[in-house]
Amino acid sequence: MVCACGYSIGDPWVVPKQRYSFFGWFVMSCGISYPPNRINIECDRCGEVFDVIEGTGEFLEEYTRRNR
Ligand SMILES: [Zn+2]
Repeated sequence: MVCACGYSIGDPWVVPKQRYSFFGWFVMSCGISYPPNRINIECDRCGEVFDVIEGTGEFLEEYTRRNR
């Protein structure tokens, strides 16, 4: 799969973006760390979403660590 600007997974423009639920944002605004509910693998330029990963906080934390 290639996005509108010609990038695919593995290119530096394609990055995992953490998405929080409303509750997650609320908790984090109180200064409490809260794992994301969802990670979108998307192009930083055009915003095309390549993949969406949902799961437990632990899994997502591990995923972001590996892909940082
Ligand atoms: Zn793109």
